[in-house]
Amino acid sequence: MALSDLNPVERNEEGIAAVLGILKQRLGERFQTGEAIRTQHAHTTTYIPTQAPDGVAFPGTTAEVQEIVTACAAHRVPVIAFGVGSSLEGHTNAPGGGISLDTSRMNRILAVNPQDLDCTVEPGVTREDLNRHLRDTGLFFPIDPGANASLGGMAATRASGTNAVRYGTMRENVLSLTAVMADGETVATGKRAKKSSAGYDLTRLLIGSEGTLGIITQLTLKLQGIPQAISGGVCPFPSVEAACNAVIATIQMGIPVARIELVNALQMRAMKSYSKLDYPESPCLFVEFHGSDAGVAEQAETFGAIAKEYGGGPFLWTSVAEERTKLWKARHDAYWSSLTLRPGAKGLSTDVCVPISRFAECVTQTEADIAEMGLIAPIVGHAGDGNFHVLVLMDAEDPKEIAATEEFVARLNMRAIGMDGTCTGEHGIGQGKVGFLRHELGHGVDIMRTIKQALDPQNIMNPGKILPAD
Ligand SMILES: Cc1cc2nc3c(=O)[nH]c(=O)nc-3n(C[C@H](O)[C@H](O)[C@H](O)COP(=O)(O)OP(=O)(O)OC[C@H]3O[C@@H](n4cnc5c(N)ncnc54)[C@H](O)[C@@H]3O)c2cc1C
Repeated sequence: MALSDLNPVERNEEGIAAVLGILKQRLGERFQTGEAIRTQHAHTTTYIPTQAPDGVAFPGTTAEVQEIVTACAAHRVPVIAFGVGSSLEGHTNAPGGGISLDTSRMNRILAVNPQDLDCTVEPGVTREDLNRHLRDTGLFFPIDPGANASLGGMAATRASGTNAVRYGTMRENVLSLTAVMADGETVATGKRAKKSSAGYDLTRLLIGSEGTLGIITQLTLKLQGIPQAISGGVCPFPSVEAACNAVIATIQMGIPVARIELVNALQMRAMKSYSKLDYPESPCLFVEFHGSDAGVAEQAETFGAIAKEYGGGPFLWTSVAEERTKLWKARHDAYWSSLTLRPGAKGLSTDVCVPISRFAECVTQTEADIAEMGLIAPIVGHAGDGNFHVLVLMDAEDPKEIAATEEFVARLNMRAIGMDGTCTGEHGIGQGKVGFLRHELGHGVDIMRTIKQALDPQNIMNPGKILPAD
């Protein structure tokens, strides 16, 4: 199936009209139906066409989320949770219309428990807000997607980022959740214990469910101590293959890198001019180590020696905070810098993930495919996890370019799946990757559908996402 073959969802005009009336009365100015705000709450970050909801609700409490969901359930109207809208696969589109439930006013940090290294937050708190709040406690929350995403959205997409190689993804960093389910009932999936064997793991069922099973209204998260010392730097390589092989060796040797990010030559060109970086225009690894002063120095030296074996270097590293911040700001701005490579083009950011031993092969085959198809498509990757992104820059008005991009993305997904990997390491399925789920999981998709039908029999929770229509 092509990327643009979206799962259709039938509109329920009568139900929608009824819910619009109820929510306007109940929420007043916290329920909006203007065109601009509705469009903002649909999906806008790729060429996937925008499918706006009929109204946007801004609840302030779990009880209000329950009220909104109950109204939607009574009238069989879709309800689509919305964090900050930075997801990349059409996740927040409303193919059958309905209500966008914006969590931005549920942005309280409810508790920080330094002794237990955990905190409890509402879903609209963003990762940067949380880390600002934690700064004086000596703790931090490590998951860092490139956007300043909401923690509810991050849990719902099972997000990760540059730190995942050391600290894991949202899957490992959420201790428990509270969610409003499709029948309007609230469920708490656990408490604050570090581990639990108490029955089915409902926390992990909701993590990555993309708003299709329930709306997360509270999260208890694991926190980490800010390391005593941090060192990091950039190491250029003669080829992308050499860089990938250095990553594989570093991971296989058990060096506890906190971040190890691949940036290919084209992406380096973009970052050099956009973020004013002074490094060669060749494939590079951005690397960071966390630990004691002696530990990080030793890890940096060992990594430098590995890089040298693969023809890389010089590995210039530093412990100076300002210099490191500049590097990682440039890395987090990779999406925006790459857009400057083709002004006016739309960027389609796709991600796949393979076992680390197949990483070099997958990236080099993908670079060859990009060259053969004549695409402009820089690559960045959370290399330590075998996860990489290709940003295809295309003219979204040109059907030929759209078709070529779809073909490229389909081949990339199938290549990753063929290497025992996944069509998405962290962005999720949304609408864009629906066609690849069965290739990856086979009968697993039927089990997912059974779960969806049991928990959301009217299909009101973010319909048209994750599960293929077949
Ligand atoms: C420049 C850029 C860089 C990025 N880099 C990364 C990266 O490195 N790693 C990564 O993982 N992702 C990355 N992303 C993707 C995106 O930031 C993540 O998917 C993020 O987790 C989405 O959070 P959000 O608040 O924007 O959610 P939204 O986009 O608002 O929603 C995403 C999905 O979650 C659902 N949802 C939102 N809130 C809730 C809730 N409270 N309860 C239930 N469901 C909910 C929505 O219905 C939707 O299906 C990047 C995006 C951009 C634009």
